[in-house]
Amino acid sequence: MSIKENYQNIRSEVPSHVKIVVAAKTRTTEEVEELVEAGITDIGENYVQEAEDMIKSLHPTTVKKVNWHMIGHLQKNKINKALPIFDVIQTVDSLKLAEDIDKRVKKAGKDFVSILLEINIGSEFTKNGIQPAEYEDFEGFMEKLVIDISKLSHIHLEGLMTMGPRFDDPEKPRLFFRRTKNIFDSLSKLNLERVNMKYLSMGMTNSYKVAIEEGANLVRIGTAIFGPRD
Ligand SMILES: *Cc1c(COP(=O)(O)O)cnc(C)c1O
Repeated sequence: MSIKENYQNIRSEVPSHVKIVVAAKTRTTEEVEELVEAGITDIGENYVQEAEDMIKSLHPTTVKKVNWHMIGHLQKNKINKALPIFDVIQTVDSLKLAEDIDKRVKKAGKDFVSILLEINIGSEFTKNGIQPAEYEDFEGFMEKLVIDISKLSHIHLEGLMTMGPRFDDPEKPRLFFRRTKNIFDSLSKLNLERVNMKYLSMGMTNSYKVAIEEGANLVRIGTAIFGPRD
């Protein structure tokens, strides 16, 4: 099946309120152009440099049609380059990084940038993201973090992102997704300026169905659309 058909099949299979962000790492300009023609509106990139290269090689009208998501870890020294490119930075995992971003938004010619907070829900040392195991009262920690971030005037906090541990059995991450959803729901009750918990970004090719059952409304998919990576 073609990339277009793969995308259309997934699009028709997931509920309409679920946003699909295509994970474009290692894929070609042609593949991405084909997807935008098929109706994809949101693309995720893991590296600032790869995003820059992709944007340079795509048709300018294609670039404008797309919302660009940073889904890889953002290093401080790449913030200035990232800000003009990305509409959403899904991988903010500390107050410090949020503050570093906030300071640079104006200079990048924007009024604000949207972010998600990345939770490393399995507390895996090999992954980025905020690790629940590091906090006695993780829910309390997150609440304070969100309150602190709401004070940053150039940042709009729009939700949470998690990778979740990787298993062959798609059922296994279910409880990790459920815990993330519970945290998402409790943070959604806070009534704060510039905070609007719209997106719960969880689920990839092997886990998006379970993630959606557990409340994800944004999934990040690569392999199921493009086929396996080299
Ligand atoms: C690659 C990637 C995905 C998509 O992974 P697939 O298994 O190819 O669907 C999702 N999220 C992040 C952060 C990624 O790096």
